[in-house]
Amino acid sequence: MKVLDNLKNIEEKIHIACENSGRSREAIKLIAVTKYVSVERAKEALEAGISDLGENRDEGLLNKYAVLKDKPNWHYIGSLQTRKVKNVIDKINYIHSLDRISLAEEIQKRAKEPINCLVQVNVSGEESKHGMDTKAVMGFIKELAGFDKVKVAGLMTMAPLTDDVQVLRQCFRSLRNLQVEIQNAAFAHAPCTELSMGMSNDFMVAIEEGATMIRIGTALVGE
Ligand SMILES: *Cc1c(COP(=O)(O)O)cnc(C)c1O
Repeated sequence: MKVLDNLKNIEEKIHIACENSGRSREAIKLIAVTKYVSVERAKEALEAGISDLGENRDEGLLNKYAVLKDKPNWHYIGSLQTRKVKNVIDKINYIHSLDRISLAEEIQKRAKEPINCLVQVNVSGEESKHGMDTKAVMGFIKELAGFDKVKVAGLMTMAPLTDDVQVLRQCFRSLRNLQVEIQNAAFAHAPCTELSMGMSNDFMVAIEEGATMIRIGTALVGE
């Protein structure tokens, strides 16, 4: 399938989810996750009108960055090893996987400009999943006040792999509730306006529950 055809299909679904929840399309950023595909395919996504690309490894990011430069906005969506920060920090617009102080320290050390970070939360508590415990997030964000290169732009989660809509909804809703709690605390360094949640199999539910960024790989650019 052409990216353009997949995109039409996904845009229809985004539209329906927006209607279901009284939200506007402009409130949601579509990130094409290109981690499985070639530079050519990533280029095709840009030509189809997509402006944001997501990669989960420094290698994949650097390979594609070498060709596409900063034409797209780059999102680093995978777990980020501390020693890899210096390779990618000046190329990316968002980090979706901030999950520990040692990573924040390295970002603080290497970044020339403040960078938008999303704190990754393991809402479902599954052991296999990356991200912080929900209960630890507020304390962690308080700790980040001293890091002027780390802007807490929002929260990110991955839902459990299931078709059970109630389970997905509950997961996304928990992240949204946590966001409200953080916004109520009104930290200058943590506007926390973004909710990065929703992938190929669950993005409609995520939008209905308040996602501002959806990360779609398989359904958009393929595996
Ligand atoms: C791979 C990946 C995605 C995209 O997953 P699909 O199911 O292919 O849409 C989204 N978010 C993260 C963090 C990923 O690693």
